[in-house]
Amino acid sequence: ALQNDQLELYYQPQLSIETRQLIGAEALLRWNHPTLGAISPSEFIPIAEESGQIISIGEWVLRQALGQLKIWIDEGMEPFTMAVNLSAIQFRYPNLVSQILGILDELQLPSHYLELELTERIASENPLQAIHIMNTLSDYGIRMSIDDFGTGYSSLNYLKKFRVYKLKIDQSFIRDIADNAEDQTIVNTIINMAHNLNMITIAEGVETIEQLDLLRKNGCKEVQGYYFSKPVPSEMFTTFVNSLSTTKTV
Ligand code: C2E
Ligand code: CA
Ligand code: CA
Repeated sequence: ALQNDQLELYYQPQLSIETRQLIGAEALLRWNHPTLGAISPSEFIPIAEESGQIISIGEWVLRQALGQLKIWIDEGMEPFTMAVNLSAIQFRYPNLVSQILGILDELQLPSHYLELELTERIASENPLQAIHIMNTLSDYGIRMSIDDFGTGYSSLNYLKKFRVYKLKIDQSFIRDIADNAEDQTIVNTIINMAHNLNMITIAEGVETIEQLDLLRKNGCKEVQGYYFSKPVPSEMFTTFVNSLSTTKTV
């Protein structure tokens, strides 16, 4: 797929609940197969992880996503954070830090424009090594968020040692938040805990105004989901951003 140029990145906007302004984009990988059509990353990423190809695919994703951000900034778009998903396998790759710094340097982009979305799986094998890599990335100014928070090992003991900037509340808790009291309690607890640990929260999978209102009431600052936009190709993302700035001036 890499060699035949069949991979593509889609971008999904991340917005501030309060100002409704764009604060970031998550890059999501798509495989456009000539005969099989679009193949979901949930299907091919696990295979790429097993075969080790996730390292070269992951490098392509980083370069492509940050390259696109650079194009947008050069075109005059207000800078925002590019969130890139990182597999636990990539996280253990010894050259990860130099690979990332190399790409940022090539593109002349400040490191705080990059946010790495990690899952709790990074700590499952060698937590001390994971903490060490996170400290190094954080020293270079790269931000990290914990994706799918609440669904994995959720070791609170490690969480306090991780230099995490943001928690992403998993969409499984958001889905029924409007009519399930237990999900509401879990989401509130995550928001309060994150707040007290000086972390930001972003809710993913927000599809309705009811979900958005509840999240706002409970102090969640950022959202991502179909309510605002699905993940879209780069040209459509530009259109989305332009529509945001027109609504602002009206
Ligand atoms: P994820 O990181 O948890 O990404 C969120 C998934 O939820 C995406 O699925 C996104 O399209 C979908 N989504 C976003 N908003 C909504 C919503 O409002 N409602 C619903 N029902 N779904 C929503 P997608 O794009 O199919 O990606 C699936 C997973 O594949 C991602 O889950 C991530 O774990 C992985 N993935 C995607 N791109 C990459 C990549 O470049 N590298 C790595 N390592 N993994 C990736
Ligand atoms: Ca993600
Ligand atoms: Ca997620």
